[in-house]
Amino acid sequence: MALVVQKFGGTSMGSIDRIVNRVAQKVISEKKKGNDVVVVVSAMAGETDRLINLVKSITEEPNERDMDFVVSTGEQVSAGLLSIALNNLGFPAVALSGWQAGIRTDRAFTKARILSINTDKIKEYLNEGKIVVITGFQGITENGEVTTLGRGGSDTSAVAIAAALNADRCDIYTDVDGVYTADPRIVPDARRIPVLSYEEMLELASLGAKVLQIRSVEFAMKYRVPLRVRSTFAEDEGTLIKEEDETMERVIVRGIAHNKNEARITVERVPDKPGIAAKIFDALADANIPVDMIVQNVSVDGFTDISFTVEKNDASKAERITKKVAEEIGARGVIRDDKIAKVSIVGLGMRSHAGVAGKVFETLAKYGINILMISTSEIKISCIIDEKFTELAVRVLHEAFELDKDEKERALI
Ligand code: ASP
Ligand code: MG
Repeated sequence: MALVVQKFGGTSMGSIDRIVNRVAQKVISEKKKGNDVVVVVSAMAGETDRLINLVKSITEEPNERDMDFVVSTGEQVSAGLLSIALNNLGFPAVALSGWQAGIRTDRAFTKARILSINTDKIKEYLNEGKIVVITGFQGITENGEVTTLGRGGSDTSAVAIAAALNADRCDIYTDVDGVYTADPRIVPDARRIPVLSYEEMLELASLGAKVLQIRSVEFAMKYRVPLRVRSTFAEDEGTLIKEEDETMERVIVRGIAHNKNEARITVERVPDKPGIAAKIFDALADANIPVDMIVQNVSVDGFTDISFTVEKNDASKAERITKKVAEEIGARGVIRDDKIAKVSIVGLGMRSHAGVAGKVFETLAKYGINILMISTSEIKISCIIDEKFTELAVRVLHEAFELDKDEKERALI
């Protein structure tokens, strides 16, 4: 007998028909194998957006504690509905909210981090033979305030619960049948990746492949929880995400990700002296705004430009904060550009193969795509480009690196 955590996303939970005829069936078939089953669910598709819009129709910058109070409710509805469906089909189940399931977080409302999970209640119900259905996306602070874990946070709930319960598997059921070499809506001959490492998935997730929330992969990596991304609507094996092994470095580029969800902020004509960058980025950190890429231009006559990217969601706040700092430090001004995109290629094989960056830049140049910012790590290369070229860039890079072919048949560089 195994302990299995299953997570179902918003599309899977999107209607009563899907909850009863798809999701409940996947849960029941796992239970029928004799396994203990814990299920983590997202809100029904579109529900979280609807709740956020309700809040934003009152104010653009709401009190985040109460924002979470509203936005967390979507998951309570879907968890309850699934549990009712299971019971109705003759399989005893119980629905638990984040606080009932013992999920403690910090106080960073709208993007809280899980600190610990007290699994006593979950285990109690499992011992009674029940299927335990838990709300994703939410937790509770020490003071009993409801928090949410950031968009897509149910993935993290699922992995954290799997880690805390020492589960044998964590299956992430979604509306796609795995992780692809690129978004199949952009590249029709993108391929499903059969196996990849936590590190590659972490890069792909943080670079905009929306299959899994980044924190869920960090969690899985830290606690070595094997993750399988698979479809609610098919029987495929999906994509397995696990620890790196020696065969994985043979593939140079595992996948391409793109992200239109960032904005670029440029502080113009900043005095080029020690401590200035710290002022800007400390102020952003104090406001809990994560910064992604940072580029500082070569200094001319004692002045320089500093550009960085933040999530579009944070852009208005980041612009306001940066303008204030810019005044204090005597910079000329602040420019914000929301019409950018980040396109990135990822693969463990980049560690041991030269010439990958050259090929990326050559390919983009050939199609007249200007690169605005570049950043690299051992296993990825990211370029910020004009948003309107996103799809073209993904397609031509996919072709250049032959990602439409089986991993073993691709030419080396
Ligand atoms: N319902 C939340 C969202 O839409 C959390 C999740 O789906 O994972 O972001
Ligand atoms: Mg999701």
